[in-house]
Amino acid sequence: MFRFYNTLSRTVEDFKPNEEGKVAMYTCGPTVYHFAHIGNIRTYIMQDALIKSLEYAGYDVKRVMNITDVGHLSSDADTGEDKMVEGAKREHKTVMEIAKFYTDAFFKDFDAVGNKRPDVIEPATNCIPEFIHMVQTLLDKGYAYVAGGNVYFDTGKLKDYYVFSSAVEKDDLEIGVRDDVEEDVNKKNKTDFVLWFTKSKFEDQALKWESPWGVGYPGWHIECSCISMKHLGEYMDIHCGGVDNIFPHHTNEIAQSEAYLGHKWCNYWFHSNHLNDQSGKMSKSKGAILTVSVLQGKGYDPLAYRFFCLQSHYRKPLVFSYDTFDNAVSAYNKLVKRVSELRADGAVDEAAKKEFETKFCEAVSNDLNTSMAVTILYDALKADVNDATKLALVESFDRVLSLDLIGHAKALGEGAAVDSELEAYVNDAIARRAEAKKAKDFATADAIRDELKAKGIEIKDTREGVEWHLV
Ligand code: AMP
Ligand code: ZN
Repeated sequence: MFRFYNTLSRTVEDFKPNEEGKVAMYTCGPTVYHFAHIGNIRTYIMQDALIKSLEYAGYDVKRVMNITDVGHLSSDADTGEDKMVEGAKREHKTVMEIAKFYTDAFFKDFDAVGNKRPDVIEPATNCIPEFIHMVQTLLDKGYAYVAGGNVYFDTGKLKDYYVFSSAVEKDDLEIGVRDDVEEDVNKKNKTDFVLWFTKSKFEDQALKWESPWGVGYPGWHIECSCISMKHLGEYMDIHCGGVDNIFPHHTNEIAQSEAYLGHKWCNYWFHSNHLNDQSGKMSKSKGAILTVSVLQGKGYDPLAYRFFCLQSHYRKPLVFSYDTFDNAVSAYNKLVKRVSELRADGAVDEAAKKEFETKFCEAVSNDLNTSMAVTILYDALKADVNDATKLALVESFDRVLSLDLIGHAKALGEGAAVDSELEAYVNDAIARRAEAKKAKDFATADAIRDELKAKGIEIKDTREGVEWHLV
């Protein structure tokens, strides 16, 4: 049985999808006003591990993700400036240029760490008619009101607004009611949230659309409710995000979706914990952003970062430091080396393979215990089975781990072959040149030197013999 922690019930629950064997999953996507840091990418790696574990266990997963390119204000409590406008101003570009640039940058890093792309990826700006329809329905049903030109969701109409209450720190629940946050006098209840902005103080808002309530733009939360329903229908199995999404974002998504539908919407809420640096939570607004591409620029393999993430449990905060990361990098390299030494030497021991696969499946089905899954990989490599079986297991486990162990091991092997071929060729050329010199055939000796030079190899005569290096 596949089990994982459901933030809604605050317990590890057996997973029962609405339709047998099928999973309808939604992921909150990035806000594309800046680069996604390695913390954001940790969240997407752990979601990818969840999807692939479900698939390993036999489920057919359909996953939808939004791209937030409008409506997410600098405070989750509907105050501050639209993050996209902020990004555009910072870089003297249009909002759509910013959105395109950071969406591309996001997927470059998303792909580099071995993630599978969601089946549907939908930018919020694609779905304005759907947002307007949902807002209108909420108004018609009496769950929303117009005040000061904006449309608000009325949380006072719900019996249970704080569905995640005990999963969230009290401080977070008080977002929007803190002294430093400007109070929105239009709100009937402190927790009410904007569904549609019209008369906002954000004159610079670049993207605006006609609506029954005037020209404006959608609030942030509405996009996830609409985009998920557009592609997954009225019932969803798993909704994913980082722990900071629990409140107010996911709380508000549930409020408006269930008010709109008139029934329960999503059964399981999967939240992964944050990556912190030594000074605290990583955040896009904190200045210098450490991205997967930056790590790559420093010579790190993005899959070593994936390995680093898989070694710890998704529900625990993870601290990034170069020391701990370097340990993971060296463990990853050793793992690749170990796999490169395996030779497919005969028949796979199917019984032993099945036994290991069952253990692996149990680990990932047990609240996504990826570190245990990695341990089982090590156990398989140490086990008393032939190399062909080990290789088959590496291939099998990599369907979830996505560490490209076999690909990397092959590249390592080919690299070694190239090196030894090169060495043999150079040694042979040096020997031929020595023969030519001995026979006083200096023309041939020089021709050999030139031949090597043309291949980027320089040789130098020293007292210890001929030395060579690549230029
Ligand atoms: P954003 O682009 O800010 O909307 O964030 C994209 C995803 O990254 C969301 O699911 C967030 O919950 C998640 N996230 C934000 N900060 C962190 C962090 N420091 N560590 C892990 N995930 C994070
Ligand atoms: Zn969302």
